[in-house]
Amino acid sequence: MSGALFVVATPIGNLSDITFRAVETLKRSAYVLAESPHHSKRLFEAYSIDTPLVKYNDDYRVEDIIDRAVEDVKGGLEISLISDAGTPTISDPGYRIVKRFRDEGLRVEPIPGASALIAALSASGLPTDKFVFLGFLPKTSGRRVNVLRSADIDATIIFYESPNRIIKSLLSVKEALGDREVVIARELTKVYEEFITGGVDEVIDKLKAKPSIKGEFVVLVRKHV
Ligand code: SAM
Repeated sequence: MSGALFVVATPIGNLSDITFRAVETLKRSAYVLAESPHHSKRLFEAYSIDTPLVKYNDDYRVEDIIDRAVEDVKGGLEISLISDAGTPTISDPGYRIVKRFRDEGLRVEPIPGASALIAALSASGLPTDKFVFLGFLPKTSGRRVNVLRSADIDATIIFYESPNRIIKSLLSVKEALGDREVVIARELTKVYEEFITGGVDEVIDKLKAKPSIKGEFVVLVRKHV
């Protein structure tokens, strides 16, 4: 019997955004490595998945957990990796486990599904043929500007941002790239989903006009024309 690690995408908000294959795989797995088991309980309850969850992230007892997973898969078990939301390893823990499995020549299979960056891009109205994904931008302003400048090729620029840093990041976009057209995809697939569009200054004004800036954000910047 050959074991495998399945890298399983889970919803980014709306619990219905999960594939049949993902649910079957999670049910069939011997156990599921999860970024935060407590967080994933809601999903497991919604789909009657009673597979044990084992906490996994890139800091917490990482080598022990990877060693055990490697031995289990060599022994023929199928196990899954999930993160709190979306596709594991994409600005999320899991890279180290996937790398080790590949280095060991073990089977690793993706079970594709939601990812905030692709959902945002697909509905943004910005060019989709080429894009650069920067993950989360650096915390210091100088480094943010450098990263943005180096990403300024003939492609839509995409990055993830949190509510408390969104304005700072937009100011860095303006400093690095000028008052370009940006699209903010907020709370995708959730009740308060919205796309905020305009030049950088305009979008900053729209955000500041809100009683408070909340939620999860994907920022997309139009390429230079
Ligand atoms: N692995 C995830 C994926 O595939 O999209 C991304 C995880 S990363 C830790 C979390 C960031 O993704 C958030 O801070 C936000 O920038 C973005 N994100 C996740 N869910 C989102 C949503 N529903 N709407 C907008 N952005 C979202």
